[in-house]
Amino acid sequence: MDYNKPRYTPMSRRRRIYEGKAKVLYEGPEPGTLIQHFKDDATAAGTKKHEVIEGKGVLNNRISEYLFQRLNDIGVPTHFIRRLNMREQLIREVEIIPLEVCVRNVAAGSLATRLGIEEGTQLPRSIIEFYYKNDQLNDPMVSEEHITAFGWATPQEIDDIMALAIRVNDFMCGLFLGVGIRLVDFKMECGRLWENDLMRIVVADEISPDSCRLWDIKSSEKLDKDRFRRDMGGLLEAYTDVAKRLGIMSENERPQGAGPVLVKG
Ligand code: UDP
Repeated sequence: MDYNKPRYTPMSRRRRIYEGKAKVLYEGPEPGTLIQHFKDDATAAGTKKHEVIEGKGVLNNRISEYLFQRLNDIGVPTHFIRRLNMREQLIREVEIIPLEVCVRNVAAGSLATRLGIEEGTQLPRSIIEFYYKNDQLNDPMVSEEHITAFGWATPQEIDDIMALAIRVNDFMCGLFLGVGIRLVDFKMECGRLWENDLMRIVVADEISPDSCRLWDIKSSEKLDKDRFRRDMGGLLEAYTDVAKRLGIMSENERPQGAGPVLVKG
């Protein structure tokens, strides 16, 4: 299949497959492909908190493209094929496993609260946690026992997911360290990719400052979605800083249609 052929289907004729909080999935140009569209919506605490932050989708599309492309380059399988435009990327259609896989290097967020550990404490080793993807239940934490008992993934799949999560974490820790950023924790999602009769687990969804905790090494300034969750402001500037440090955006470039304008939703 030639994934590099341009697409001429006008946006209006595309079939919408799924709409989430921050992204929309459309039918792709070839069977087995989808188009992932990044919106500007930011949500937290389920959907209780909601704002439209103009330009966030453009930044996340670029940052996620960069990270997934680097992962593809080192042989970590992902759903990513290529970026199509400012807000969209072409991806392989996968069967999403209904788990949020969180990898933590430093105590923060729900782990710090749940276990009473001070935010910023280096963990003795990287910790992998699983949450069941269910908005109504606020994504409860689950164990491998729950995952296998309820058939969300098999023991072999859990092993594959954990091996992938460790590779992604090791790679991203080094990548971000090189640009003066501490990877505190991140969330990833996995999918089953079917190739004829063979199935393999790949990294899916997005990896961006929406789904990572990124702290400046020196100042510990937050460069991630906690700026929105904790009403700190400056989210767009922080995401732009991450993109510039990774060399994705030139010093003078601004995300299209962007400006630090907050539209209350
Ligand atoms: N995370 C995410 N989506 C979620 C919940 C968490 O991307 O629905 C990410 C979050 O950005 C952080 C990591 O997963 O990088 C761990 O989040 P935590 O459990 O501490 O959640 P929170 O403090 O946001 O409730």
